Amino acid sequence: MALPDNIKNKKLRGIAEKVCNKIPVGREDALYMLTTDDILDLGTIAHYIRTRLHGNIAYYGVNMNLNYTNICELRCPLCAYSCDEDDEKAFLLSLDEIEQRVKNAVSMGIDEVHIVGGLHPHLTINYFEQLLRLIKEIKPDMHIVAFTAVEYDYFAKKNKIPLEEVFKRLMDAGVEALPGGGAEIFSPRVRDIIAPKKISGSKWLSVMGTAHKMGLKTNATMLYNHIENAEDIVDHLSKIRNLQDETGGFKTFVPLQFHSENTKLEVTHTTTGYDDIRIYATSRIFLHNVPHLKALWMYLGDKMAQTLLRFGVDDIGATYHNEKVVHAAGAQTPDFGSETFLKRLIHKAQLIPERTTASYRSLSAGLEKEFV
Ligand code: SF4
Repeated sequence: MALPDNIKNKKLRGIAEKVCNKIPVGREDALYMLTTDDILDLGTIAHYIRTRLHGNIAYYGVNMNLNYTNICELRCPLCAYSCDEDDEKAFLLSLDEIEQRVKNAVSMGIDEVHIVGGLHPHLTINYFEQLLRLIKEIKPDMHIVAFTAVEYDYFAKKNKIPLEEVFKRLMDAGVEALPGGGAEIFSPRVRDIIAPKKISGSKWLSVMGTAHKMGLKTNATMLYNHIENAEDIVDHLSKIRNLQDETGGFKTFVPLQFHSENTKLEVTHTTTGYDDIRIYATSRIFLHNVPHLKALWMYLGDKMAQTLLRFGVDDIGATYHNEKVVHAAGAQTPDFGSETFLKRLIHKAQLIPERTTASYRSLSAGLEKEFV
């Protein structure tokens, strides 16, 4: 497959040549891509890579979000979702409530549960094992994507057991993949302001490296649109790419646009369409070794997420019954999108929708095949 030869921008033409010859692009290239106004040339390169990897397919999922508690010891300034134990909006779901929610979502045809929550001081690992086994009892083939690197690290410390044992016990109970949350931005300068008590960027990477070595595939996120700069973004992308070279465990990279409402961060700006396009296309081009790039329609809005399917994105996210975290921070999108809605977005972008899970197994028409 040849790259279209209509790239006019000289620097981007140089980057395109590297891409064609499968040479990883450099940090200077990334910095340039994050600031260029030639988004159509940039999009041509990103779309070339996306098509080389996935052809005309775009992925989506049918899942539910399970946020088991909003009580969290850390109370990060970037977070609109968490609260203290004595707050009137504090909640912790009982196993009975979880059973009801999962059964309800299963009756609506979900394939996957996406579980994350706050760092609750009184929950032991037994609660999580029971929660996972309960879900598997309700639907044995449910794909479970559960707990961020921040939660795994906390479980190990709280339960005074090695991280490997935490992974082993929760994998035995049903965890099949990890979401990529908690990465934020690795730069200590930024992290000290937006999430000072959260594990460091290097700790996040080391927890993910352990998960990969234990056979778990994971996502990786990057939170942008707060106080980061272009160098911080390139640093973040580089660290993901370096770990991926070692472990190959990242399936998907997920840039997340920061929403500031109800958080302690005073961020008054929001991204423009050009900004979002530069972030996604640069991620696609720089992270040559990570197979998938996901644009969560719930964070970006459905129209921008759909547009990004032509700028490197191959996965538009999922139906997300009952999403709580980004809506607490003011996202204006609905907290549920039907399968028909997602398929229409993909079809109208001239692509073929493929229903899948975070492990990218095909779920369309009973086919059993695995994508990259
Ligand atoms: S971002 Fe996560 S760790 Fe930080 S306060 Fe919110 S729930 Fe807790």
